[in-house]
Amino acid sequence: MTHHWLADRTRTFDPSGIRKVFELGAKLADPINLSIGQPDFDVPVEVKEAAIEAIREGRNGYALSQGIPPLREKLQARIDDEYGHGDRQVLVTCGTSGGLVLAMWALINPGDEVIVFDPCFVMYDALAAMVGGRVVYVDTYPDFRIDVAQVAAAITGRTKMIVLNSPANPTGVVASEAEVRGLAELAARHDVVLLSDEIYREFCYEGPCLSPARYNDRVLVLDGFSKSHGMPGWRLGFAHGPSAVIEEMIKLQQYSFVCAPQPAQWAGLVALDVEMDAQIAQYRRKRDMLYQGLAERYELVRPGGAFYAFPRVPWGTGAEFVERAIRQHGLLIIPGSVFSRRDSHFRISYAADEATIRRGIEALGQLALPRP
Ligand code: PMP
Repeated sequence: MTHHWLADRTRTFDPSGIRKVFELGAKLADPINLSIGQPDFDVPVEVKEAAIEAIREGRNGYALSQGIPPLREKLQARIDDEYGHGDRQVLVTCGTSGGLVLAMWALINPGDEVIVFDPCFVMYDALAAMVGGRVVYVDTYPDFRIDVAQVAAAITGRTKMIVLNSPANPTGVVASEAEVRGLAELAARHDVVLLSDEIYREFCYEGPCLSPARYNDRVLVLDGFSKSHGMPGWRLGFAHGPSAVIEEMIKLQQYSFVCAPQPAQWAGLVALDVEMDAQIAQYRRKRDMLYQGLAERYELVRPGGAFYAFPRVPWGTGAEFVERAIRQHGLLIIPGSVFSRRDSHFRISYAADEATIRRGIEALGQLALPRP
C-alpha cells in the first residue's frame, strides 16, 4: 500500500475525462473519433526540416530558460509591434500548458480567488486548485457569452486572477470586442491579473480575434504553436506580459521545466513565417459542415473559432449520451462535465478529416431521435 504516500493536492482533481474517452476509443476497431483536441494537419515541411537540421547540427543542449535569443527576439519584435507596450516581455515555454503552470505558480497564493468561466478548459481550475487557489466559477450557459457585470459581481477582496480563453475550448465561442474590452477594463480597475489563453488565436473564422492586451497593458497572454502549426507533441509555447511577472516565470522555469526543447525552438523560429491560411480556411469549412449538419437537431451555439462545438444533449445527461454514442456508434465525443459543473452538453472536435465528420454527423442524427 502506497496511497498514504500521496500528497493531499493529488486529491484536488480527477484524471482528465478526455483521457478516459481516449482509452475507451483505443479498444474500438473503427471509431468515429471527434474527441481529439489537436489539428489533423501535419507540421509544415519547412518546420520539420528546421527541427531536423537543429538536431543534426548539434543544437541539442539546454537553451536559455527564457528561450533561444533568435526566437525570443522575433516574438518580442512582433509583440512590440502589435501592442507597443513599454513593459511587455516574452518567455518561451513548454507548450501553452507550461506557461499556465508557471503563471499559477508565480501569481496564486493559497486562498487567492481565481475566476474561471464555466465551461472551460480542464487545466484552469485544476492548476489553480493545485497551488491552493480558490476557484470561482462564472456560469456562461446557454450562449457562452461573457457577462462583464456578472464577473464584476464575482470579484472580492481575495480575487487575484480572471482566466479568459477566446476562441474557447470547449465551446468554440469567440468573445466579442465589447466582452474582451469590458473584461480588460474590469481587471485593470480592480488591479487583478487577466490571464488570456490565446492558443486558438489563429483559428478565428469571422475576422481577427481580439486580445484583451489591446485594452490593458498588464494582461498576461499565453500562446503557442501546438494548434496553429499542428505540433502539440513538440511542446512549444510562449507567454508575454509585465516584465516583473515574466521574470518570476523565468526563474520558476529554471527550477522546473528548465527550457522548452531546443530543436523545437529552432523550428518555431521558422514556423513564425509559415502561412497557415489554407489550413485555417479548411477548418472554417469543417466548422460550417458540422454546424449545418447539427443545427436542425441540436441546440448549438455556432462556433466562431477554435475547432470545437458544444451542443446540448437531446436527452439524458452528458455522461449517458456519450456512453450511448460510444457503445452504439463508436462515436468518441467528450461529456460536458469534463469542462463544467453541469453535465448537459458534449464537446465535439472537428479536427478530423471530412469523412469522419460526415460519419459523426450521421451518428449524431440517429442519436438525436427520442430514446426508444
Ligand atoms: N489551452 C487550451 C485552451 C487548450 O485547449 C490546450 C490544449 N488542448 C492548451 C492550453 C494546452 O496546449 P499545449 O499543448 O500548447 O500545452
